[in-house]
Amino acid sequence: MQKAVTCLVPLRSSIYSKGLEIYRRGGVAIDVETEKSVYLFVEGEHQKYDVRLMSDDTFNCTCKLGSLKAGKGVLCSHVVASILFMSERQSAEKRGAVAKSESSAD
Ligand SMILES: [Zn+2]
Repeated sequence: MQKAVTCLVPLRSSIYSKGLEIYRRGGVAIDVETEKSVYLFVEGEHQKYDVRLMSDDTFNCTCKLGSLKAGKGVLCSHVVASILFMSERQSAEKRGAVAKSESSAD
């Protein structure tokens, strides 16, 4: 079970809204998913970045800002978009599981 993604560092609202914008326009795609980490492609304003979210709540991104470790640096908009993408996917999976158990109980 993956635990909920929590915000570890102070988030600047401009970074959050940028990340939300990337997420909303479908700029996030999963590359590889392992037990310990998820690799995602994120389309930034000018280029694509590789984001990695790890199960110990750390992350990195190939952009300048995101290459700093969690707790030391600032979340970049690409990591924000990835977190939004993953948490939405997890809740969609939960909804799917509920729907499935409901129909099988019939
Ligand atoms: Zn980034």
